[in-house]
Amino acid sequence: MNVAMFAPSEPAPPPADPLDYLADVLFQKMGSPGVYGRTALYEDVVERLAALITRHREVDTEVLRFPPVMNRTQLERSGYLKSFPNLLGCVCGLHGTESEIDAAVSCFDAGGDWTMSLSPADLVLSPAACYPVYPIAASRGPVPASGWCFDVAADCFRREPSRHLDRLQSFRMREYVCIGSPDHVSAFRERWMVLAQEIARDLGLTFRVDYASDPFFGRVGQMMAVSQKQQSLKFELLVPLRSEEQPTACMSFNYHRDHFGTAWGIADAAGEPAHTACVAFGMDRLAVAMFHTHGRDVARWPTAVRDLLGFPPNDR
Ligand code: ATP
Ligand code: ZN
Ligand code: MG
Repeated sequence: MNVAMFAPSEPAPPPADPLDYLADVLFQKMGSPGVYGRTALYEDVVERLAALITRHREVDTEVLRFPPVMNRTQLERSGYLKSFPNLLGCVCGLHGTESEIDAAVSCFDAGGDWTMSLSPADLVLSPAACYPVYPIAASRGPVPASGWCFDVAADCFRREPSRHLDRLQSFRMREYVCIGSPDHVSAFRERWMVLAQEIARDLGLTFRVDYASDPFFGRVGQMMAVSQKQQSLKFELLVPLRSEEQPTACMSFNYHRDHFGTAWGIADAAGEPAHTACVAFGMDRLAVAMFHTHGRDVARWPTAVRDLLGFPPNDR
């Protein structure tokens, strides 16, 4: 007979996750799942991966770096609430008068719930790096025949707390975004699907590329996801980190058709709405994938991988 290891009132700890062994060298806990301080070892690899992606930037690509927050109205206009309201993080603050704010703080001092006094600000936490670029593009007038290409990055937030090291609430996303005619944008995505696989191969990662869909919210969302897959609008580069059956998406290749063009009035000289696509690199997932694949000791990573990432030569 099995003897219970824990008192009945004490919940058993969750089973270990295959990535847990990386936690102590890569992250420092910060009190919430999926929100971590990062070690120098980890950040160095994130920066080297970012530099590698930069080396593959196409000519005539405009670089923009965004803060972790963006305008709430802009995200609403992009349609985010229709698709992923459950993932959104919204900035709120104590916006009342001095006495109202004092009352909220006193409430906290008395052990009460001060958060009842919060009200939403005009900011949300950016859920993806590319959202702010569409209104910027829209402000520039007609899209030229050669289209526009942007290199963007941001710290992103998604309210999907998880104890798995490859599903964070706060994570870094780098994207190349293309805005132009349907042909132009499709060609961009196809080029990047080939190039991204070359990069993943050079990094020594095991992967496959597959059709994917976004986790649209609710029952209507399930239909949107089916249609997205049928139309091949999203592909992912999947790395088997936790298991072969449930591999982790480390990059995605998204064709939005005229969704953002129509939402923002981005159009060519003839008034045709622009099409858009983005290739997104999950920088934290890529870094975790590198450590999981090659080990915790970067000095022992394969020479070709170390060279690609610009590590100094080892004394071997
Ligand atoms: P998933 O299916 O794993 O939830 P996703 O389809 O939501 O991923 P995208 O919306 O395409 O991901 O985001 C672009 C990239 O950002 C992903 O390919 C992934 O590498 C990274 N990413 C997305 N969500 C997270 C997360 N919670 N933690 C870490 N990285 C993430
Ligand atoms: Zn994007
Ligand atoms: Mg997701």
